[in-house]
Amino acid sequence: MGEEIYSGFSAKELFKEGIGMTYDDFSILDTSFTNIDRNEIVLETDLGKGIVLKTPIIAAPMDTVTSKELCIALALQGGIGCIHYNFKNPDGSPDIDKQVKEIESVKRFENGFIENPVTVSPENTIADAIQIGEKNKVGKSAIDTFPVTESGKPHGKLLGLLRKQDYSRTKHTDFKVKDRMVPLKKLIKGEWPITLHEANKLLWEEHLLFLPITDKKCNLRYLVTRSDLDKNEEYPLATKDENKRLMVLFAVETRPIAYERLEKCFKAGADGCIIDTSQGYTRYEVDMIKYIKEKYPDKLVIGGNISTPEACKGLEEEGLNSYRCGQGSGSICTTSGAIGVSRAGASGVYYCAKATKMKTIADGGIRQVGDIVKALTIGADVVILGNMLAGTEESPGNTIIDPESGLPVKIYRGMGSKEANVGEIRGYSRLPQGVSGHVKYKGSIHEWVPLIRDGIISAFHVLNCKNIKELHEKMNKGKIRFEKRTVGSLRESNVHDLLM
Ligand code: GDP
Ligand code: 5GP
Repeated sequence: MGEEIYSGFSAKELFKEGIGMTYDDFSILDTSFTNIDRNEIVLETDLGKGIVLKTPIIAAPMDTVTSKELCIALALQGGIGCIHYNFKNPDGSPDIDKQVKEIESVKRFENGFIENPVTVSPENTIADAIQIGEKNKVGKSAIDTFPVTESGKPHGKLLGLLRKQDYSRTKHTDFKVKDRMVPLKKLIKGEWPITLHEANKLLWEEHLLFLPITDKKCNLRYLVTRSDLDKNEEYPLATKDENKRLMVLFAVETRPIAYERLEKCFKAGADGCIIDTSQGYTRYEVDMIKYIKEKYPDKLVIGGNISTPEACKGLEEEGLNSYRCGQGSGSICTTSGAIGVSRAGASGVYYCAKATKMKTIADGGIRQVGDIVKALTIGADVVILGNMLAGTEESPGNTIIDPESGLPVKIYRGMGSKEANVGEIRGYSRLPQGVSGHVKYKGSIHEWVPLIRDGIISAFHVLNCKNIKELHEKMNKGKIRFEKRTVGSLRESNVHDLLM
């Protein structure tokens, strides 16, 4: 028998106490014989409280990243977004209702049974209906089909259905809804109780796009739509709740306004929250964790940001189950220079993940797919992306042409930057801890995230791991091998000696 060969270092040998390692400072070696197929690899990660991601990515709660559009697109691709809290009234005070509206839009995008369909009354005009539809957009499109109820309310007596083919948006604006709707006697409807499966069967059999469901007294209970069925088939990875609605998180601060925000955002159907503070190992955060756990025991609460085992231990003892790991490593972050307290991204993740049973969410400094792989390999259960998701079609803001490079770009800024001016909400001291800049336009999440997944799957294949759990086990046993990088190897690993 030959001697066992061990290239490079184990993770334990790679990370040395007192030395800050970033994702650039090491590479993973290909030492495993691959005998699995790519299609056996599952990237699933369980965050707890019923939130299981098929793509281990959370979108950072930042006002240049997480609009409702991005949260919808990312949830369809198996991740989850966190609606930021930097919405303001004209006088600069926090506007919680705008955040609530974003959450409602994500929850409304896809459904099984639509519980509160947008309805109109028979006495409304078509112009009224068009206006109501515009006010209740689903994704980017206005609603154009409405159950008609006697009271105009979602659970009133059903009198008909107004479909988009029943009216012209120019010629019929003055008509009453009752004059253009399909009346009840001509309408195919379902009667409660009915399973979603049976309702979907009816949609197909009767060639319908919309199926109202009523109780025995003909009061409207739900609406079921063909487009939901289509979305279900088109996006098999989607992150959904038990009612088949997309899942979404929201950001909440540790200040007194948080209590109102929690109440309203959870009422709007949010599935969990991120306590969004750059310094999470504080009395304020502990008070907030205790409050949320007690008042909303079914909801996921993610704490942070922290980056040391000491802080992990402290928050875990207060009952926290998942946390954002990273202080000062974000691409737009100036914390290290501003206050000198920070930690290199990879070191934080490795030491924290090793010290806690909580779910470790690697946050900050993840610039490319390889960095996601490295973060997962050294112990993260999931990553938070800011920079890598900013500049996508679905992130907020316009695409402009950068005058110097001629490339299309979008704004990306730190939530602690002067430009984001979170001010009253986040209460930063006057010295900013973030900056504002531009990132390259990346196209749609629907093209970008599948590419990211493809890269991660390739790495798992090389490392011969079928899932994140296996990866962690192999890393902890010293079976995943690493090498430190020199300046030369870093240069070599980027494109070199090429005129571009
Ligand atoms: P489409 O243009 O034919 O796709 O139909 P719509 O734009 O009217 O609606 C499509 C999506 O809106 C479906 O996925 C529904 O689940 C969703 N939706 C959510 N809430 C409502 C609602 O109250 N009314 C309607 N009509 N659709 C809703
Ligand atoms: P990125 O993916 O761009 O490297 O990092 C995103 C992360 O940076 C966010 O999830 C958040 O933790 C952190 N972050 C966002 N804005 C700021 C800021 O203004 N200052 C600091 N210190 N960190 C920020």
